[in-house]
This record gives sequence, structure tokens and C-alpha cells, in this order.
Amino acid sequence: MAINKKTKVAGKKLTHNRLADPAVPNAFGRILQNGLYECRVPVGGRRCGAQMLNAKHNIRSHISKKHRDDSAYKKNQRAGIWPCVNEDCVNEGRIYPNFHSLVGHARSVHGMKGDSKPLKQRATNLRRKMAEKERREMRDAEREAQENASDDAEYEEESLFVEQPDEPDGPSGGNFDRDPPGTGGSQPIPVA
Ligand SMILES: [Zn+2]
Ligand SMILES: [Zn+2]
Repeated sequence: MAINKKTKVAGKKLTHNRLADPAVPNAFGRILQNGLYECRVPVGGRRCGAQMLNAKHNIRSHISKKHRDDSAYKKNQRAGIWPCVNEDCVNEGRIYPNFHSLVGHARSVHGMKGDSKPLKQRATNLRRKMAEKERREMRDAEREAQENASDDAEYEEESLFVEQPDEPDGPSGGNFDRDPPGTGGSQPIPVA
């Protein structure tokens, strides 16, 4: 039956294109659909956003080059980010680059008193959940895109069975140089 065929194809594609986990498991970032790793270390209240190959060397070298000056970050490198566990703050996505800042926030904004260990535990658990959620969302988005794609391809089933050569998952050589397609410089606009 056509439906079975279709499901099979979609399943196969999904497995093939499954998003990988970051090569450095505790780095705070995620894998984009194009297979690159995106750094999400908070820098000045924003996500770093740098993209690189998902390889240990690339991620570690980026962190040490771009985030090495942030001594608080280094100190908490094992962890990376500290989300506030208060529900409103979670919804806002409020995060701190180090535990010390989070404690300051929890004490002044939420009136936390005493031992900060429970907060540390809860923030650590929350961070793990956030990272998992992000990866799951990326996978869901990917799956949805593929399901839509296979719907579109319903009348072109034949093309699905043509063995396509595997696209390289990413340049494995040293010639990775993916500049965004620029406009080639600004052309002077002729004045009429
Ligand atoms: Zn970064
Ligand atoms: Zn808070």
C-alpha cells in the first residue's frame, strides 16, 4: 500500500538525517539543521550564536578563544549556564552565566535565604532539562519538515527511490570555509 511505502520512506529519511548531539556533551549549545554546532553561551545577556563544526576541537577552541575572558564562565565551565528556577523566570528564559549571579538574583528578587545548595541542585536539573528540550524541539522541527516534504513528494514517489549519493555530513577535511553568500560588495546605484 502506498501509505506504508510512504511511512517507510519517511522513517528512513528521518534516521538518516537524525540530529546529532554536541560533540562536547556539556557545552551549552545545540546542533542546527545544517549540522553545525551553535554556541548558546550567554554573552552580555544574549546568546553567543557562533556557529562551527560539531567537533570537539572546534567547540573547545571556540570556547577558549571567545569565552576565556569571562572568568565566571570559566569557573563554571563544567556547567555553563545557570537558569533561575522560579516559574516566571523560567518562562522568561532568565539565565545567569555563573552560580554566584543566580544566587544574588534569587536572594534579591525571590527573597531566598540561607543555604544555596538546594538552588544549585534545582538549577542544575533545570539546565539539563532545558538542553534536552532544545534538542527535542530541534528534532521535532526536523521531523515535521520531513513529513511535510514527504507529503509534497507524494506524486513524485519514483524520485524517492532513486539512490542519492550520500551527501557528506560536513567537510571532514580542513577546507571548511563557508562564508555566507554576500552581495559581492555594494554596487554603485546609477543615478538617473
Ligand atoms: Zn560562543
Ligand atoms: Zn528568578
